Amino acid sequence: MAASGKAAFRLPPLPTVREIIKLFNLRAQKQLSQNFLLDLRLTDKIVRQAGKLKDAHVCEVGPGPGGITRSILNADVAQLLLIEKDTRFIPGLQMLSEAAPEKVHIVHGDILTYKMERAFPKHLQKKWEDDPPNVHIIGNLPFSVSTPLIIRWLENVSSRDGPFVYGRTQMTLTFQKEVAERLTATIGSKQRSRLSIMSQYLCTVQDCFTIPGRAFVPKPEVDVSVVHFTPLVQPKIQQPFKLVERVVKSVFQFRRKYCCRGVGILFPEAERLEKSEQMLMLADVDPILRPAQLSILHFKNLCDAYRKMCDEDTNLFSYNYREELKQKKRTRKKGYLERSEQGD
Ligand code: SAM
Repeated sequence: MAASGKAAFRLPPLPTVREIIKLFNLRAQKQLSQNFLLDLRLTDKIVRQAGKLKDAHVCEVGPGPGGITRSILNADVAQLLLIEKDTRFIPGLQMLSEAAPEKVHIVHGDILTYKMERAFPKHLQKKWEDDPPNVHIIGNLPFSVSTPLIIRWLENVSSRDGPFVYGRTQMTLTFQKEVAERLTATIGSKQRSRLSIMSQYLCTVQDCFTIPGRAFVPKPEVDVSVVHFTPLVQPKIQQPFKLVERVVKSVFQFRRKYCCRGVGILFPEAERLEKSEQMLMLADVDPILRPAQLSILHFKNLCDAYRKMCDEDTNLFSYNYREELKQKKRTRKKGYLERSEQGD
């Protein structure tokens, strides 16, 4: 019996996930990278990483045959929103919805276009500075979706929109083990990358545990890690997301070289040396550190310095290194053709 005197919710006896797969002929589609979790002890363990879910409002992305869905419902949530792209799973999910009356709402749609800002009641909204709202996102998505999705959601964290209109909504998501290592990599580690900085300047990121590939049906080529994100009250870099992304991406463009090499490509070739020296000096960053040796504070200083330089030169932010390279190649080719026509 729960403390309130109300019995905690448990799903009634249902066909197993394996039986649902058989019943609705839900063969995993390789081209959609579908790998299912059938072991409910494992799905319970994933759901526990989200924290206490009693009376929570949860969005599960990619429920598929519903293993994680069952664990979320058994955690006694108030509302569960399911977003599933593959129509074949809808009847099986409806069965779960009937077993948990008035809790489940099924959306047949794509999480990449779904507007989560209207999904939950307004009264759940908390101030950003407050504790996180009782709104959670949980999902085991294909790797091809989870990486672009986390980048998008990090941008939403930065602008406090999308799923973060409710406040600091927490996310518990699976990633290919290597991606999880990059998301959580600390300074100096081999996996330190663009993803490490982009996620850690906005969120507390925790690599919870690894699930061996053999736990999935069918077995993927790789192991999978569960990662938990809580948006920070104060982002560690206070500049627009696109600016941070540009600086971090440029610095990691040449991950084995000194960081000055990547900083350089933020500037047109004609002024590259002078401007990159100026930016590194302003940021007080040693030009011969490697990208992986830079702390988030280094990146903050680099972003602040770049912002200052962009404010002073309004064309700077639209400069595109790749475009300049292409243009140079075209000019070189044209010159070569002209010279060969003249018989040089
Ligand atoms: N959650 C289930 C589990 O753990 O057994 C299924 C996991 S399977 C790796 C990924 C699921 O995400 C599939 O059901 C797939 O159809 C769904 N999916 C893939 N892309 C999606 C998208 N863009 N939006 C919503 N669902 C998606």
